Amino acid sequence: MSLNKKSVDDISVAGKRVLCRCDFNVPLKEGKITDENRLVAALPTIKKLIADGGKVILCSHLGKPKGEPKPELSLAPVAARLTELLGQEVKFAADPEVVGPNAKAAVEAMKDGEVILLENTRYRIEETKNGEAFSKELASLCDVFVNDAFGTAHRAHCSNVGVAELAETAVVGYLMQKEIDFLGNAVENPVRPFVAILGGAKVADKLNVISNLLEKCDTLIIGGGMAYTFLKAQGYEIGNSLVDDSKIDYCKEMIAKAEKLGKKLLLPVDSVTVAAFPNPIDAEIEVETYPVENMPADKEGCDIGPKTAEMYADAVKSAKTVVWNGPMGVFENPVLAKGTIAVAKALAETDATTIIGGGDSAAAVNQLGFGDKMSHISTGGGASLEFLEGKELPGVAAANDR
Ligand code: ATP
Repeated sequence: MSLNKKSVDDISVAGKRVLCRCDFNVPLKEGKITDENRLVAALPTIKKLIADGGKVILCSHLGKPKGEPKPELSLAPVAARLTELLGQEVKFAADPEVVGPNAKAAVEAMKDGEVILLENTRYRIEETKNGEAFSKELASLCDVFVNDAFGTAHRAHCSNVGVAELAETAVVGYLMQKEIDFLGNAVENPVRPFVAILGGAKVADKLNVISNLLEKCDTLIIGGGMAYTFLKAQGYEIGNSLVDDSKIDYCKEMIAKAEKLGKKLLLPVDSVTVAAFPNPIDAEIEVETYPVENMPADKEGCDIGPKTAEMYADAVKSAKTVVWNGPMGVFENPVLAKGTIAVAKALAETDATTIIGGGDSAAAVNQLGFGDKMSHISTGGGASLEFLEGKELPGVAAANDR
C-alpha cells in the first residue's frame, strides 16, 4: 500500500465545501463529555481548513446506535464543546437522516470559513456496510473530502471510504498523516535496530502481528499473558497462567522462524506469580517471583519478573526504533505493574523513536505518566494493530496518492 498520501497541505480549499471525517467518538456521561482528547486532537486540521477559507462540514460516528437515531448518542454536545474550543460557532446540523433536508439546507447557507457538524453517521444503517446511497449523499455535500479519523481507518464505511471514492479530491488530515508517518513508516522503513515489543492477554489476538513483525524487526520481545503459550511451547511448566493450547505449534513455528531469519526473539526468564488472579483486578495480593525453570504448578504468572524486565530494558537501549503494543502484565494491579512500568521507563529514557500502538498500551503509558515522553501514541487500537500486521487500511488506501 502506498503511504505517500495527499494531505490538507497539498490542496487549496478556499471557497470549497470540505467534508472532514473526524474521530469524535468521545465518552459521554449524562450528555457531558468526560474525555475531550479526541476533540482537542482534531483541532489543527479543522483550524487549517478554516484559515484556508473552506466551508468546513465535520462528521463522525459516536458509539453504536446501530442504524437508528438514538438521542443519547447525538453529536450535539460535541458541537457545543467544539464551539468553545475553536472560539467560533460550530453549528449543529440536527438531522435524523444525517444528510437530510436540515443538513442540506445548513450546508447551502454556509459562508467561507464557517463550520458545521453533521449528526452521528451511524444513525444510518448503511454507514458500517459502506452502502452506496449514503456514500453518495455524503459526497453530494462536498467538493473535497478530508479523512482525519485514524480510529476507523481499518474499516470500510461510507463516511471514510465510500465517500472518499466518490469525492473528486480525497486527502488525509494532520492526525492521520502523523499515524501514517509513525506507524506505517516505522514498520515499513524502520531506522534500525528496530525493536518490537508485544504483550497483552492472548497470542490468538496477535497472530499476524507476531509473524509480520518478526519479518520486519531486528528484535521481537514478548511479554504479558501471551508469553506463557510461548513458554509452554519451550517445554516449561506454566502453572495456571493464561495459555492457548491450540497455539503452541504456532509459537514453536515463530521460534523457528526467528532462528531462520536470524532475528532475536526475547521471552521471559522469570515471572511474578500469584496463587489466584486478583478479584477485583486491583485487589491487594501476595506475589512470588520464580525463574521460568522453577514455576510451581499451582501458581499463575501475571507479570514479567525483574530479570526479564532488565533484559527487555537493555534491548530497548540499543534500539533506534521501538514499537510497543500490549502491557507486560496485569498492570491494572500495582504489584503486577512493575514489568510494564520498567518497559515504559526504558522507552521514556531512550532517544530512539518510540511508538505506542493504541488501546491498553496507550492507556498504560498515559496512566503511568510516561505519555509525553513517547514520540507517538497511536489514537487507534484496532487500526494500529492492522498497520503492525502489514495490512492495507481501507481508510488510508482510499485517499489520493501524491
Ligand atoms: P488493545 O488490543 O486494546 O490494543 P492491548 O493489545 O494493549 O489492547 P490486550 O491484548 O487487550 O492489550 O491485553 C491487555 C490485558 O492483558 C490487560 O488487561 C492485562 O491485565 C492483561 N494481561 C497482561 N498480562 C497478563 C497475564 N500474565 N495474565 C493475564 N492477563 C494479563
